[in-house]
Amino acid sequence: RIGTAALAVQVVGSNWPKPHYTLLVTGLCRFQILQLLKEKPYPVAEVEQLDRLEQFTNQHKSEEELGELSEQFYKYAVQLVEMLDMSVPAVAKLRRLLDNLPREALPDILTSIIRTSNQEKLQILDAVRLEERFKMTIPLLVRQIEGLKLLQKTRKPKQDDDKRVVAIRPSRRISHIPSTTEDDEEEEDHDDVVMLEKKIRTSSMSEQALKVCLKEIKRLKKMPQSMPEYALTRNYLELMVELPWNKSTKDRLEIRAARILLDNDHYAMEKLKKRVLEYLAVRQLKNNLKGPILCFVGPPGVGKTSVGRSIAKTLGREFHRIALGGVCDQSDIRGHRRTYVGSMPGRIINGLKTVGVNNPVFLLDEVDKLGKSLQGDPAAALLEVLDPEQNHSFTDHYLNVAFDLSQVLFIATANTTATIPPALLDRMEIIQVPGYTQEEKIEIAHRHLIPKQLEQHGLTPQQIQIPQVTTLDIITRYTREAGVRSLDRKLGAICRAVAVKVAEGQHKETKPDRAEVGEGEDCKEHVTEDAKTESISDTADLALPPEMPILIDFHALKDILGPPMYEMEVSERLSQPGVAIGLAWTPLGGEIMFVEASRMDGEGQLTLTGQLGDVMKESAHLAISWLRSNAKRYQLTNASGSFDLLDNTDIHLHFPAGAVTKDGPSAGVTIVTCLASLFSGRLVCSDVAMTGEITLRGLVLPVGGIKDKVLAAHRAGLKRIIIPRRNEKDLEEIAVNVRQDLTFVMASCLDEVLNAAFDGGFAVKPRVERLNSKL
Ligand code: ADP
Repeated sequence: RIGTAALAVQVVGSNWPKPHYTLLVTGLCRFQILQLLKEKPYPVAEVEQLDRLEQFTNQHKSEEELGELSEQFYKYAVQLVEMLDMSVPAVAKLRRLLDNLPREALPDILTSIIRTSNQEKLQILDAVRLEERFKMTIPLLVRQIEGLKLLQKTRKPKQDDDKRVVAIRPSRRISHIPSTTEDDEEEEDHDDVVMLEKKIRTSSMSEQALKVCLKEIKRLKKMPQSMPEYALTRNYLELMVELPWNKSTKDRLEIRAARILLDNDHYAMEKLKKRVLEYLAVRQLKNNLKGPILCFVGPPGVGKTSVGRSIAKTLGREFHRIALGGVCDQSDIRGHRRTYVGSMPGRIINGLKTVGVNNPVFLLDEVDKLGKSLQGDPAAALLEVLDPEQNHSFTDHYLNVAFDLSQVLFIATANTTATIPPALLDRMEIIQVPGYTQEEKIEIAHRHLIPKQLEQHGLTPQQIQIPQVTTLDIITRYTREAGVRSLDRKLGAICRAVAVKVAEGQHKETKPDRAEVGEGEDCKEHVTEDAKTESISDTADLALPPEMPILIDFHALKDILGPPMYEMEVSERLSQPGVAIGLAWTPLGGEIMFVEASRMDGEGQLTLTGQLGDVMKESAHLAISWLRSNAKRYQLTNASGSFDLLDNTDIHLHFPAGAVTKDGPSAGVTIVTCLASLFSGRLVCSDVAMTGEITLRGLVLPVGGIKDKVLAAHRAGLKRIIIPRRNEKDLEEIAVNVRQDLTFVMASCLDEVLNAAFDGGFAVKPRVERLNSKL
């Protein structure tokens, strides 16, 4: 391949009307490519200089042969120049050049001046041998001379000299060589725009969108590229083309397969799976279901997200997760208007672009954590997205045309419904996903979490063994959660530790003999601290053959995860009057909660501590009022023996773990019990927990989150649980084995609560003396 080496003399650029460059170069010599070294980012090659070399080496030999040719060429050249008007300075200069320049340079120079096509110019540049070059240029010169003669014959010579010069080199040609690149670029851009237009026309966008796009592309064509709006419009059009207006995946829905898949992916969560299957079944029967949006509500780590993913898998649809936690700007959902600098579409449209189909499963994660700010309410924007009646014409501010979202399957997740705006809640069907029992967690760990962790860490069951007792230990002593996320992390930590050992080729084994006998807790307790550390650090001595799996027992657990984080402490806490155990529901699952009360001399004030919400404070006031009004009945007195409990007495109620904000009416019965214990001086049973809302009349009203609360009580080792009678139906959701471990007391009024909370009941006592003696 032959090229021309040139020296860039000048680069002139301008931004108006379009960005373009003019490159002025001086040709130096021809060269030939010997070897292409690289092509990107620009070609680099080894080259050999051609014409100069030939010129110097063959000078003497070729002079003779060329003499004639060059003489002939010179003559034609002079003839041509002389046909032009010599009074034009450029022509005069050219005439002088013909005499001064070496003859070998003439073909190159004249070819660039006379009217020739690009192809012809390239041919001349490609002609390495001088002789060939002369031969090729002469016909061009002759052609030009003939042309001029013809022109002079037909037209009277004009006085305007400049134009005559231009006649030889038409204006288009004058700037042709230096502006080749510019032209190309322009053409390229133009091509791009044409391509874009073609794509727009062939895309299956809605009529309205097509109209907008065509209008925009018209504007784009007229717009200089240097305008910032050019890029904006182009990005917009590209997005419009990319959006899946009409592209969708085909649903492959088979309920039986879906059931199997859901069962395979997730253990337990029967209620959720049942509802999901119903939903899918209806979809199978009626294709474009305008059904409600499913919203899974439950503590973290119970598998809400992962069920969402499974649903997408069963339907054979694309899955996209949109995290809404902390989103407080409505343009996050709905996009920015295009007038903004840096404007972009919202997450919904972005998600659609990412998945590339218009019927994906969108998981709106953490809808309860939407924020609100001056930039508008994102929840309000979501309303339009989620409402089946409206979302077929969802208008993103950036797109500014409606996009049909009705094919998208939305699933939302939340930790609590309390913070979901009511209007949004109204659009969704809430499916509660309660926390897991210990037994369920063990099953989940062994069926799903451990195999997954082993795979992630490159381990095999032949290398590590985690028995069920160990899993139970992790669940009870190292985690306290409703879901399984923390359990999963702990298992991950164990796998990491084992991976190190396996990688080192050195097996750490906690005494194998102990592993055999050590199922029971007792015998482990006898092992002294020294022995434990020895078993862990002296791994080399106890090294087993590599084929033996590493057994994770209690001691290995302690070594890897550190000392246990949680211990049971229930029975110790109730050693004095004025303490009761309540059951609280938090977004993280159920929890047991101690309520403490004390009284002191004062002016009848009630102090509440422990970060309580308004509803909780009201419950405390209710409880006191009820007790005051019933003091005589129960023979409750203050320190000075008066039935007016607040006479000269201050009461302080505290809900420990002050870092957590608590609210809700369900602590009512606990507060009453706690205060009853304080004023009667009797101890509340240590193994009783309770929950329920109270009224001034002493009724016990139903509360929410019963399953989570019961599970929390079960986890904490409590035995008896007092719940509102109207919550009895909720017990059905609780696993039989948990129910068997617990005694439930259904209470419809506070009398029943008090009777169940105190050993021997809390009946109306007629004799005052006995009570007095207690105080
Ligand atoms: P969430 O969205 O509820 O906070 P995730 O869906 O992220 O929780 O679940 C956390 C992890 O726990 C996932 O790896 C998931 O596979 C696992 N997991 C939760 N519940 C189950 C279950 N019932 N069966 C199998 N794995 C589960």
